[in-house]
Amino acid sequence: MPILELRCLRCGRRHRPSRGLYTCGKCGGKLDVIYDYEAVAAKISRIELSKRRGGVWKYFELLPLARKKNIVSLGEGGTPLIPARNLAKELKMKYLFLKDETRNPTSSFKDRPMSVGVSKAVEFGARTVVCASSGNAAIALAAYAAKAGIKCYAYVPAGAPESKVAQLLMHGARVVQPKEGGAGDPTYQLMLQSWKKFGWHPIPSGGAFNPYQPEGSKTISYEICEQLGWQAPDWVIVPTGAGTLLSGNAKGYFEFEQIGLIKGVPRLVAIQAEGCAPIVKAFREGTPPYEIPPWPDPRTVAGGLIDPYPWDADTAIPAIKRSGGTAETVNDAEILEAVKRLARSEGIFAEPSGAAGLAGLKKLLDGGVISRSDVVVVEVTGGGLKDVATALKMVERPEVIEPKLEQLQKLFAG
Ligand SMILES: *Cc1c(COP(=O)(O)O)cnc(C)c1O
Repeated sequence: MPILELRCLRCGRRHRPSRGLYTCGKCGGKLDVIYDYEAVAAKISRIELSKRRGGVWKYFELLPLARKKNIVSLGEGGTPLIPARNLAKELKMKYLFLKDETRNPTSSFKDRPMSVGVSKAVEFGARTVVCASSGNAAIALAAYAAKAGIKCYAYVPAGAPESKVAQLLMHGARVVQPKEGGAGDPTYQLMLQSWKKFGWHPIPSGGAFNPYQPEGSKTISYEICEQLGWQAPDWVIVPTGAGTLLSGNAKGYFEFEQIGLIKGVPRLVAIQAEGCAPIVKAFREGTPPYEIPPWPDPRTVAGGLIDPYPWDADTAIPAIKRSGGTAETVNDAEILEAVKRLARSEGIFAEPSGAAGLAGLKKLLDGGVISRSDVVVVEVTGGGLKDVATALKMVERPEVIEPKLEQLQKLFAG
């Protein structure tokens, strides 16, 4: 197995991977999975990778599973990198690509980390998994738990869209919506208590309490490099909540560079909603990650990006800096306008969180941060059917008419 060790990002302590070890045994800090990159480099090459079938598990040597037989898969990853010619023209850009993560089994990129998280839990012999999530992570967890035949408890905020709750319940998860109030995020509090008390395996969307699942998001970066002919783009734009996706993406590029599969890494951009932007604020103000205060009264149409506690800011902010990237906010109007643009110019229906990256791109082009001749990849992270209520508010309902041609003509003339 190419995993060397788990290293605590807070106190530096090294651990051998062992059953059920999800946080640092010494300080409770977040663990990072460290691989034996020399051993990995000896096993995979551009040629070897190009021979393998697409998907998350194509990169088995760079994922934290000991045995292939423990893989729990629904066909995640291997998503297309779409040249967005219409949008590029509208934005007067040369090279714009969309990484279409809406094509994953449950319609968000979260299937990648959850496939890895559930597979690892299965390898540990888990019978029950539990998560705290604003929706997509819980949905993906529920689907993979169903596939693995294990129980899933999901603690979801009371404001989650009905369509997400429906998807979650359909996969058979036991869903609980704790009320707000008191100190801390109530969904996380309950998840941590359930883990300690009942021994259920915690697989939240953030990496702070599970070092394995964020590894799944690296595979987006691996795929992008191969899809661009073994080159990193100039910029990768990532809708950001807790910073887990961005941290995972960054690790992917740095690993590929270290193994010698690419030269140089892209500038990484975190896009947060104006109504919940703790990472952008900390990035700008230079706040040390462990001192970032929770965002008061988070509010945005991009529900998937509501993470008042940026659990993975400690890896996301240094990664943005190291890559020469930046962080920016977008408001709800900009996000909704991006949802429409994606759907109407490129045929991709995204949920608001999934389209936030495009909204950010527009702002960074207008501000002169990104040049119109740069190679840019925007990640479209979640599908539009996850939040039908918001979509319906943005469009006019169809007209009901008598089935007569004159009626049509009258309508279309008007
Ligand atoms: C979870 C999620 C993100 C990114 O969130 P992080 O907490 O930063 O990992 C982006 N878009 C969608 C649709 C999501 O569900």
